[in-house]
Amino acid sequence: MNQSFDVAVIGPGAMGSATLYQLAKRGIRAVGIDRFAPPHAEGSTHGETRITRRGIGEGETYVPLAVRSHEIWRELEAETGESMLFEVGSIVVSEADDNVERPGRTGFIRRSIAAAQRYDIPHEILSADEIRHRFPNLIPGDNEIGYYEPGGGYLMPERCVAANLTMARRHGATIRLGEVVNNIVPDGDGVVISIGGETIRAGQAVVTAGARAGSLLGAPFDRLLKPTRQVMHWFALAPDAPQAWRNSPVYMWPHGEAEDGFFYGFPSLDGVSMKTADEFYGAASDPNAIDRKVPLSDSHRMHAAHLAGRLVGVTNNPIKTATCIYTATPDSAFLIDRHPASPAILVASPCSGHGFKHSAAIGESPAQWAGTAPRPSTSPPSASPGSETDKAPDRGIGSLAGRSRTAREARSPAMV
Ligand SMILES: Cc1cc2nc3c(=O)[nH]c(=O)nc-3n(C[C@H](O)[C@H](O)[C@H](O)COP(=O)(O)OP(=O)(O)OC[C@H]3O[C@@H](n4cnc5c(N)ncnc54)[C@H](O)[C@@H]3O)c2cc1C
Repeated sequence: MNQSFDVAVIGPGAMGSATLYQLAKRGIRAVGIDRFAPPHAEGSTHGETRITRRGIGEGETYVPLAVRSHEIWRELEAETGESMLFEVGSIVVSEADDNVERPGRTGFIRRSIAAAQRYDIPHEILSADEIRHRFPNLIPGDNEIGYYEPGGGYLMPERCVAANLTMARRHGATIRLGEVVNNIVPDGDGVVISIGGETIRAGQAVVTAGARAGSLLGAPFDRLLKPTRQVMHWFALAPDAPQAWRNSPVYMWPHGEAEDGFFYGFPSLDGVSMKTADEFYGAASDPNAIDRKVPLSDSHRMHAAHLAGRLVGVTNNPIKTATCIYTATPDSAFLIDRHPASPAILVASPCSGHGFKHSAAIGESPAQWAGTAPRPSTSPPSASPGSETDKAPDRGIGSLAGRSRTAREARSPAMV
């Protein structure tokens, strides 16, 4: 036994680095252990930008998390001097009555508007003409409208993770990089964590291993979590592309009758290209064997399926592509809960491809849990303020309960 801590965070990527920062800030003796060196490009948190907004179309339950996260990022910016949150505006373009079933995004514009109305998030509803006039890089169909949120925009995920880790270190956290956690075994009041030939003892473990959480934790998580390969494309702008690409809001665009009729994108950060992506809901991938090569034909498919006729001044020429990993639950919500076999293990990361904007606040939740209740209580932590969550009519942010008939089956103590 080499070291002991109050809390060990397994995988300080997006959720874990935020957790580590919040733990350390509260004076809790914490260690973060990662197989790579976050921020890195081997998980789910890279590629320059992530959309953020407060009128959350995936479910209004999430709104308090996004609101709180924006506050934390502004605090982090002040503490580190780094810019990471850019409130350039966000727009959802869609038919108003779109109800095509898409994982987590059915009725996306209607639900975004409902969430904004319920939580008084400043927004405007724009007609197709108003969208074309205000944002000349976007060409909506006459039957489409826009949900525009002036406080939406984008985050720079690598900067956010780096800032969390800088602040965590500054507050005394231990960070161990390049070390793979092989298993986490409940032991007495806490857990014993194996890394290589060494063991670390901790009062509690927070598992934020993202796409690799299923394989690390075993059942029921390996059945519930599906990692999928996603591709981001940076297309060259045409020489005469409108200056509007520099000033563009971030956009999300559900369209057509198919499940995969959805894409999103960002303003041009470099003035010569813009980043865009769609979503892949098909077969699961092994996170350790992701095919990183993106054939040109895939970028051409992306352009033809989504961009052509909807965006102005975007060529069919990708200057860069990158692959990343979604980790989806069966209902595309989050999974934040105690391990069924041990209340000393909290799982807090699989966020179904829409978690980054909430990560700063998600990090507060385990820290509050660990800080206020050194011995775990019997109720699962709430990832958002409980009263707000209780008000929301849609499903919760996500616990194990109800996800699987066997989700609550506890296994033997040495289960992971
Ligand atoms: C292409 C793409 C676009 C997205 N767009 C958006 C968006 O616009 N807005 C939004 O809000 N969200 C978006 N998301 C989702 C969001 O980025 C993710 O939900 C979030 O980044 C996941 O963070 P995480 O902490 O769960 O995983 P990660 O950041 O990947 O962290 C997991 C960490 O665990 C470590 N680890 C794993 N196993 C072990 C082990 N056994 N031992 C030690 N360390 C281990 C890994 O090395 C890694 O560092 C997008 C995701 C992708 C892939």
